[in-house]
Amino acid sequence: MEDLDYDVAVVGGGPVGLALAGLLGQRGHSVGVFERFAQVYPLPRAIRFDGEIMRIFQNLDIVEDIEDDIVPMQGYRWFGADDEEIVYIHQADLAPSGWASSFAFWQPAVDQALQARAATLASVDIRRGWAAEGLSQGSDQGELVVRRGTESRPGEWDPGEETAIVRARYVVGADGANSVVRDASGIGQMDLGFSENWLVVDTSPEDMSRWDPRISEQHCNPLRPHVEVNNDHRHRRWEFMILPDERPEDFESEERVWELLEGHLAPDEGSLVRHAVYEFRSKVADTSNLGRVALAGDSAHVMPPFMGEGLCSGLRDANNLAWRLDLLLRGLGGEHLLDAYTEERRPHNEAMIQVSLEMGRVSCTIDPVAAAERDEAFRSGRVPPPPPVPHLTSGTMRGADDPASGRLTAQGLVRTPEGEEGRFDDVLGKGFALICLSGDPRHALDADQHDFLASIGAVVVTLDPAVDGAIVDVDGVLGEYLRGLGRVAVLARPDGYGFGSVERLEELPDLVADLRARLAA
Ligand SMILES: Cc1cc2nc3c(=O)[nH]c(=O)nc-3n(C[C@H](O)[C@H](O)[C@H](O)COP(=O)(O)OP(=O)(O)OC[C@H]3O[C@@H](n4cnc5c(N)ncnc54)[C@H](O)[C@@H]3O)c2cc1C
Repeated sequence: MEDLDYDVAVVGGGPVGLALAGLLGQRGHSVGVFERFAQVYPLPRAIRFDGEIMRIFQNLDIVEDIEDDIVPMQGYRWFGADDEEIVYIHQADLAPSGWASSFAFWQPAVDQALQARAATLASVDIRRGWAAEGLSQGSDQGELVVRRGTESRPGEWDPGEETAIVRARYVVGADGANSVVRDASGIGQMDLGFSENWLVVDTSPEDMSRWDPRISEQHCNPLRPHVEVNNDHRHRRWEFMILPDERPEDFESEERVWELLEGHLAPDEGSLVRHAVYEFRSKVADTSNLGRVALAGDSAHVMPPFMGEGLCSGLRDANNLAWRLDLLLRGLGGEHLLDAYTEERRPHNEAMIQVSLEMGRVSCTIDPVAAAERDEAFRSGRVPPPPPVPHLTSGTMRGADDPASGRLTAQGLVRTPEGEEGRFDDVLGKGFALICLSGDPRHALDADQHDFLASIGAVVVTLDPAVDGAIVDVDGVLGEYLRGLGRVAVLARPDGYGFGSVERLEELPDLVADLRARLAA
């Protein structure tokens, strides 16, 4: 293969690498994706994603492609040591993202849709069968050595003779937990000290009507904690904890799997799609950026799946990184934007790991006394609320005093004066957005500030019906969101997080000036 040159080279064609390629490609940047395996991984690891991720899928235009392979979730039932329900956690039908708060899904279909989306973009070049094996950095580009190989057996990559050099202004390691990009960049990682083996069983039952697809189940029996949930309308997943005195290799046979499934699913009621033992770990890279290199997804963090947030965190990385790289590549932002990527994402990922660990500690204790106390606490309502889902605390945002800053903004249904109606991002775009509840932002900002906002592709809108050209807040979501914050306007970033907000329109110039200063090259 000839040597290659891109704006961004992405190592790893897993869900995070493919999503990032799509987000950059649809902004017109040239992206090379290097993935060692010839095909999209055909089996699921993740089974659940949240509403924020659905908004990313919306922005990647893959919602229609995955519709049949996802299920909006309604509730999470926990069962205690006696197998009776101890708590029911309701999951909202409508999250701030404009979608349900949680979805179950069949990961191979979603990964395939991400691959197909990226592949349709003229500026995205997906090279499967190529593995990165070396990386060096100059002041203005990164250089990868990639090698062609073959998959001799499923999951085993055999290196061949052919190599090539790939140059790119930025290199992103989306190459999973054993990241070559992370190691070759000399980025260390911190082990947060969690290690448990779990048997993951995916099945294809004949009669799916036995289970409510909208409910996931956490069985907290200390004899063997387990999880069960439908992945979609055709598959059901069980995850069984392997106890500390048990050996993972004793869970390899189908006989052993069917023993564990006894009472749930019998061999004449369905088939095994696969079963595998995973070691759940908790690690976070020391930094998610270094020079021309950034890490995204499992290369930057791994977490036990007790919250179903590992992939979600990786897709948040991709969404956060995409607009930063876009501004950098267009000369509209400074290199510090990548430092702010780590500043935002690393603590968020670490906090998500801690929430996951806490969730696992409570639900999967194998100490019968602790389990009995937990069950009693749930039944008597003496349980402290679950740890809050973290938000971004510092980075490219106004900061803690601003109620919108670092938090997800809402997406509602809107209608333009021309009559186009739909979800905000679909109708008005996927970039920066200045949304005002009342008044006319056009008069609050000077021409220079409007030019700046236009240069970064920001839309400026008001919901005020008294203003000519206002958009209609069809379902009232945006108005309710701004009123709830007590703000008259919010400046949202392309990843859906709030940059900042104001109480009065007279403060808008300061808000826009602040954004400009924080992006400045
Ligand atoms: C049992 C289980 C259940 C889970 N449940 C959930 C859940 O419900 N929700 C959730 O959000 N997350 C969940 N997760 C976590 C989730 O699966 C991962 O976080 C996610 O798949 C990571 O995606 P990624 O693209 O970062 O990495 P990967 O999916 O690991 O993709 C990395 C890609 O890089 C390629 N690669 C590696 N090295 C190279 C190289 N040198 N050159 C070229 N290519 C390379 C690999 O072949 C691979 O395709 C779960 C994980 C497990 C194991």
